[in-house]
This record gives sequence, structure tokens and C-alpha cells, in this order.
Amino acid sequence: MEAKNEENRIKKYGGRLKLYNTLSRSEEVFVPLEEGKVTLYVCGTTEYDYVHLGHGRTYAFYDVLVRFLEWLGYDVFYIQNITDVGHLEGDVDFGEDKVVKRARRERKHPMEIVEFFMRKHFEAVDGLKIKRPNVMPRASAHIPEIIELAQTLVKEGYAYVAKGSVYFSVKKFPEYGKLSGVKPDEVLPGARVDVRKEKKDPRDFALWRKAPEGYVLKWSSPWGEGFPGWHIEDTVFILKYFGPQCDIHGGAVELIFPHHDCEISQAEVITGVKPFVRYWVHTGLLTINGEKMSKSKGNYIRLEEALRKHSPEALRLWMASTHFRKSLDYNEKDLEAAEKNVERISNTLGRIQDSLEEVPEEEPVFSDQIEELKENFVEAMLDDLNTSKALSFFFQLITSVNKAIDEGKYSKEDLEVAEKTIKELGEFFQIVPEPGERGFGGADIELVNSLLNLIIDIREKARERKDYDTADKIRGELGELGIVLEDTKEGARWRITSTP
Ligand SMILES: [Zn+2]
Repeated sequence: MEAKNEENRIKKYGGRLKLYNTLSRSEEVFVPLEEGKVTLYVCGTTEYDYVHLGHGRTYAFYDVLVRFLEWLGYDVFYIQNITDVGHLEGDVDFGEDKVVKRARRERKHPMEIVEFFMRKHFEAVDGLKIKRPNVMPRASAHIPEIIELAQTLVKEGYAYVAKGSVYFSVKKFPEYGKLSGVKPDEVLPGARVDVRKEKKDPRDFALWRKAPEGYVLKWSSPWGEGFPGWHIEDTVFILKYFGPQCDIHGGAVELIFPHHDCEISQAEVITGVKPFVRYWVHTGLLTINGEKMSKSKGNYIRLEEALRKHSPEALRLWMASTHFRKSLDYNEKDLEAAEKNVERISNTLGRIQDSLEEVPEEEPVFSDQIEELKENFVEAMLDDLNTSKALSFFFQLITSVNKAIDEGKYSKEDLEVAEKTIKELGEFFQIVPEPGERGFGGADIELVNSLLNLIIDIREKARERKDYDTADKIRGELGELGIVLEDTKEGARWRITSTP
């Protein structure tokens, strides 16, 4: 596991972090089961298609949560599963397994499909600067554990076997639906035709499904050949890696019912430990220009596409600008504004570097103000991760630094504190660009820097002799390479806009 912060802030801030819990429908003070440790489980994707912007938003939020918890001093054990079998289309009994369907269409083995999209998934979330979870268990790699849990549920009378499938009997768990608040009589599936006749109650959900004739993705079980139901893997992973309880369970809001209600049922009847999950934290929807994202509407945006258009920093800033429980709208106007604000951050860091060469003041002038803004930022984060409010303090800090430099009222210490704070707070959202990190395919950044300074020099000379054609040509062609020249008081400065 990665090294955690040297500074433990739990003493100072512990017991002050509040999270909105979907189960209690209220904000609660976060207290982990085990002091100093946090177990976090987030529902992963089904690997049958590209991850889209909505996934990006969800995983970016949990990345902020993980980074903030670690900054506070908690040791976070973060699990996100990978569904590679058992997720049926439309989540109805007669839906086809999403992976198997794609494999059939592409004449490939289902696991080739999974492998392809899993690699694409990693590339995209890495590109968005999301730290990978500690463990990413796959359903297909835990078939024995899944069978064991299903067997136990049958043995204890909470599940039954019918026609080679195993179903959880919802009637046996009167609290079923307590997370979503969906009442038993509301749960009847809209289309009764989609319910298998062997089920005792239409609400009963499959723990194990009998494989149809000639099916590829199947395993032997006490009930014949088959494959797992969709809801069981998460419960299995939590019980296996965390035990009977989990501190925080996350996922997108559309997973609350029935998925998360099913997870609770399977776990609580077996362990008797309640609540199975202490804090249910759900992320809001993503819309595209005000409309729900869907393939049929043609407004479906892959995360990798968004990353070709925008820098990861701008995407992360845009994501963090809205509270995670609210729905977030993707539109070019907001993204352009985010790009500009990322520019402001990197320009400010550049100005700090330049200004350090000659400082007008001996004593600190505005370090106290920086500390105050940082405290306000942290307070906002402690309040159910109010990232939009936290960001407003972050940009106040940016404004203050620029004002101090403009007015020539700063000391060395002020600039150093400012730089450290901008980087430290920007880290939660990954919004501080690092020029050497991307865009040059690992080229020597010092060399690139020298070459660009040479080009900037040539352009300056051209401007001095009023050869604006050459100066504009240089600026234009660098722009096409994704390098922007900005004329500042301290001379021209270059910056990468996006991966060329
Ligand atoms: Zn799940």
C-alpha cells in the first residue's frame, strides 16, 4: 500500500467529517468502524463497452474522497469490482448477459471482450488522473465464494433452488427496500412477462442462474452448470475483504434500487450484523446539454473522447465544481471555462516562480490570509465534500496571490506558502497541471523547455523588428501542436493546452 501522509490530521479534524447517508437520508458524522482505517467499496463497471463520462464523474468523485480521507490521515482500503459475468440487459430475468451479447455480435470469446474493455477502462481513468483502487476483484475469479454464499443462503432458508437457478426470497427479509424506500407493492416489475415463472415472488432476485444450452460463460455448481446473478458479487467481495461491515459504499444513484437493496439483504440475513454498510454515498446523474446521456439519443460521450477534447485537469475541475450528489451537466461552455481556470492556476504558479527571483518584502504579508482560506477550504470539504464551495476558496487564494504580485506586496515566505497550498489543495481534484507530465511522450522536459524558450526568443526578435507575420506564424503553429504562448508582464510564457 502507498505511503500515507506523514502528518496525521485525524486528531484535529476527526469526528468533523460529515457525509450524507442515503440510508438515513441525512447528514451524519463519519466515524469509521476501526480507528484510523476506512473501508470503501464502490460499484465498478460491467466490461462490455467503453467507460463513459458518467463513470468518469463517479470515479473521480471517489478519488477526491479517497485523497481527502488520506490527507486527514486515514488508511483507506478501497475496493472497486469489475463485473465480467452475470449482468443482464435491462436487469430483467430474460435479458441477455451484456458481455456475452457483445461477444456473440463480434464473434469473440466473452473474456476477450472483457479484457479489451478493461484495458480501455484503465487507460481512460488513468488519463483522468484517478488513482486506482487497492483491489479490483472480478466476479469470474470468485465463483467458488459466490457459490458458497448462495449455498449458505439456501441452507439458512433465505433462498431457494428452482429449475437449476437459485433465487433470494425477498419475503424472508422484511427490511428489503429500506435503502431506496421502495415499498413491496411498488417493486413489481413493470413487465410481468420478464419474470421467470419458477420464481415464488416476482421481486425475488437470482443469486445463480442456470446456463442455457450451448452457453459459453458458465461454471459447475451444486445446481448444475450456470453463472452468478449480478447482485451477489459485491456482497461476496465485501464479506471476503472487509468482513460483515463496510464503512462507506458508493456508486451512482441509479444503483440504489434494486442493486444496493439486494446487496444489503444478502449480507444482513447471513451475518445478522446491521447495518451492512455504515454510510451509503451515492453520486448524481450526468446530463449532456441538459439531457440524460443515452446511446439512443446519440449524446453518449466516452471518457476517452472527452479526454481527447479537454485536459484531465479541466475535466476534473468541471466535475468538482458541482456537488457530487447533484446532477452534473456536460456542455462546452462550462468546459471552456474550466480550461481557462486551469490556465489561471498554472499561470499563477508560473508567476510565483518568476516573482521569487526578486522579492520586495522581508516579512510575510499575506501568509495568514492563505492559512485562513485553506481552513475554509477544509471546512467545506468536511461538510459532505462540498467541493464547489471548497473550490471557491481555492480560487480566492489564486486571486489573492495575483493581486499581491501585481501590487508588489509579498515576501519569499508568502510565495512559498502560496505555492505549497495551491499544490496541496489542488491535489484533491488533480487540477494543477504539471507541464512535464504529459504531451511530450516522455521527452526530456528540460530540453523541451530550452527549445521553446529559443522559439519564444526568435518570436520576440521578430516582433521587435515588426515582422508580425513571422511572430503570428510561430504562435499559430505552436497552437496547433497544443502549445499556447501567453504574453505576460514578465514576457511570453508557454503552456500545454492538451495532448497534441
Ligand atoms: Zn455493484
